[in-house]
This record gives sequence, structure tokens and C-alpha cells, in this order.
Amino acid sequence: MRTLKNFPYKHALVLGLAKSGTAAATILLNNNVHVRINDYNTKPDADIVTEFGRLGAEVVVGSHPLSILEGIDIIVKNPGIPYSNVILKEAEERNIPIITEIELAASLAGDNKLIGITGSNGKTTTTSLVYQMLEASERQTKLAGNIGVVASEVAETLEEDDLLLLELSSFQLMGVHKFKPHVVALLNLFDAHLDYHGSVDAYIAAKKNIIINQTEDDYIVYNSDDTRVVTAIENAKAIRIPFSTVKQHTEGAWLDDYYMYFKDEKIIELQDIVLVGDHNKENILAAIAVSLTMGATKAGIHHVLTTFTGVEHRLQYVANIKDRLFYNDSKATNMLATEKALQSFQQPTILLAGGLDRGDDYEQLIPYLQNVREMVVFGETADQLSDLAIKQQIKVNKVENVKEAAQVAYAHSEPGDVILLSPACASWDQYKTFEERGNMFIQAVHTLA
Ligand code: ADP
Repeated sequence: MRTLKNFPYKHALVLGLAKSGTAAATILLNNNVHVRINDYNTKPDADIVTEFGRLGAEVVVGSHPLSILEGIDIIVKNPGIPYSNVILKEAEERNIPIITEIELAASLAGDNKLIGITGSNGKTTTTSLVYQMLEASERQTKLAGNIGVVASEVAETLEEDDLLLLELSSFQLMGVHKFKPHVVALLNLFDAHLDYHGSVDAYIAAKKNIIINQTEDDYIVYNSDDTRVVTAIENAKAIRIPFSTVKQHTEGAWLDDYYMYFKDEKIIELQDIVLVGDHNKENILAAIAVSLTMGATKAGIHHVLTTFTGVEHRLQYVANIKDRLFYNDSKATNMLATEKALQSFQQPTILLAGGLDRGDDYEQLIPYLQNVREMVVFGETADQLSDLAIKQQIKVNKVENVKEAAQVAYAHSEPGDVILLSPACASWDQYKTFEERGNMFIQAVHTLA
């Protein structure tokens, strides 16, 4: 197991005992740091309280008394806890540094090279692509971060020369001080999480933490089509590698009508790429730039792009049954995502949509329905979506759930059709998660085959 390097703190407060807090507390204890844990929602008799007590931590649950700051010289907070929390406000007054476990991961990684991917949208897709491209090129890489694997836990197990590839959210990036990725990708900056950050400027400032410690020996892969991104990196010290879907960039990644290029080299013919969606072209260009910079091979990249069908539930290709193409985009829990999905296909499309009613006005979808020749609707919003279809003179069927939707769509389909689950609504009226909804759809499709 690795130990923390350049970590001068002796008394840590771990705020929030979710997955990342549990990992952070364990790592700190392993490194002989005195640990106090505070969690509002855990019960005093929970097993985890007993277990950490046995390991020598002080555990305070059920409240946030200010006394827990006594003697503390560092706070490791769960990324989800807002800075308006009483403890954090008081800690700021007292100048106690506040970090997230990403900073611990960086300290554990030491001299191993870090890759950090961030942006408002496309993080998981790009990170998955980079991971697979490096793997296919036999470049040893470990994957963690916002993608669902606790970064510091993975960092503890790094072997010499392993790369650590991290998907990073703005919440995680707010709590970094020395974190210094060798290669960064900044994909885009939309208005996101403004409730947490308070303003666009504060959100962008958090994202910029990913580049502040980079030097002239590091790299920043950035979207040169996004003006906020271009502004955000104005003072970056790292070597700039732009990517663009509209400009020819001989110093970065770009495309024309037929090929994708890195600098002046052809990387892949567009028609060989399996992943659909214009937005994914941006993610692919970014992934090509990052992975080539870290030693991926052209053959490895080619292999991934000709086989990678997408991250689960994000415009994921499911099957071709009798020349009908099925796609699962269950992650599309709002209209914006469904618009992106609909823009990705030129073929006649049967759209499967519906779910939790948040009072949205679905007329916003109208400009994107040109290729939709039939809709199959379900869930709380079935009636609204059905009204929309009738108004647009699109054939519509109301069904009970996604399983039935897949069956009806298939029965009504013709060769050459796309059958697309892109619900434009959250899943919680009928399913526990969007993953469950997507899996039900996939299962139903495989049954049809
Ligand atoms: P994240 O991890 O940042 O949430 P994902 O890769 O999971 O991103 O993609 C989530 C959704 O974001 C996709 O279904 C798609 O609608 C949208 N999206 C993905 N990539 C981009 C992009 N480069 N630009 C705009 N929207 C995108």
C-alpha cells in the first residue's frame, strides 16, 4: 500500500461518511493521522461507527457541533456537502484548509502521472474512451473519480508507472490545493450546478482548479470551439492542445467530412466510428488528443473507435434486429439530452419517451421531431407526450412501461428504422434509477431477438 506524500497534517476531520469519506478516513488512519469523523445522517449504533471507533477514530454522528473543529488542521469533505455548511463556514474563518479526497489521491499518487478530465457534459464518455484507448495500447492505467470509483482508494494501489485517470466534477475540484495532472482535458463549460456554486464565475473558478498547478511540462487538451473554455485557460502554463469540430487545428485534434486527424496525421475514417452523435465527435477528438499525448497507439485508438458502443445508458447501441437499430439513452432525463439524441440520427426514428412529471413543457422538442415517425409513450407524462405527437401528426401509442414500449415499437417498425429510448424524463415514477429503466429496455430488446 502507498503512503501519503507531502501531507503535513496530523489531525483530520472527515466530513460526510459516504463512500469517499469512508475511504478517506481509512487512508488517513493507515497513515497515522488522528481522525475525527462527523456525519449528520449516520445512526450512533451503526456498524460503521463501531468499526471506526475500533480503528481509533473519534466518531460524532447526528449533529454538527462546532466543537468538532478543536485541534483540527485539515478537513476532508464529501464533495456533495455545500460550503454553506456551518462547520465549513467556521473552518474558513479559522483558516483550516478544506480538501476533497481527490487531494489525498494526488498525494498517494506521488510521481505517478495523473490525467484529469472535466467539463459540464461528456466527462464519463471521454474518460471511458481514454481509458480504453490506453488499455488497447497496453499503457497501464487505473481509472477513478466521479465515474464511480473512489480516487484515493485506487491511488493507494498504483504500481510504478501506472497512470491514474480521473473523471472530475466541479465539486471535487473545489477541494484541491496541490493536485497537478500531467494532462488535463477541459471539454466544455455550460451553466451547471449553479444552485451549489452560486454563480457561473464560481463554477468556472472551481473547474479551473484542474489547471492551476500545471507547469510548462504539462498539457491541456481543450475545446477551442467553446469561448468559456478558451477564456478559462488564458493564463494556463501548460502546453495547449486544442480540439475542434469546425476548425482545422494542425496543433491538435480536428476533423473534416471524412476523417479525424491529430495534427497532420489521419487517425480514423468517420464512417468506421461506431459511436453516434455529434456531441460524441467532440468527446472522441478530446480522447484522441489525451490518449496520444500519454502514449496510446494509433492501432489501439482505431480498435476502440471501431468497437466502443457507448457508455451504458448514454445513447448506447444495443442491437440490430432485422435491420432495426436499437439505442438505449435512458440517461436522457431531461429534454436537452433527448434533443441531442434525436439530432444524432438521420434515419426514420421511433421515439420511446415518458417518465416522471416535473411540469415541463414538451413543445420544446418540436424542432427535433422531423425524423420521428412514431412515438411510444409511458409513465406520468404519457398524456402530455401523446398530445404533442398528435399535434405534430406523429403516430403515437400509449403503453405501460419500457418493456412493452420496446415490443410495440418493434412490431410497428420497418427495416432501416432507429428505435430510440430517450425518455426526456426522470425514471422515478416507475423505476428506481435510470439504470434500472435502461436495463429493462435492453432485456426486452434481447428478448425480441
Ligand atoms: P457527464 O459524465 O459529464 O455527465 P456523459 O458522458 O455521461 O457526461 O454524457 C451525459 C449526457 O451529456 C449525454 O447523454 C449527452 O446528452 C450529453 N453530452 C455528452 N457529451 C457531450 C458534449 N461533448 N457536449 C454536449 N453534450 C454532451
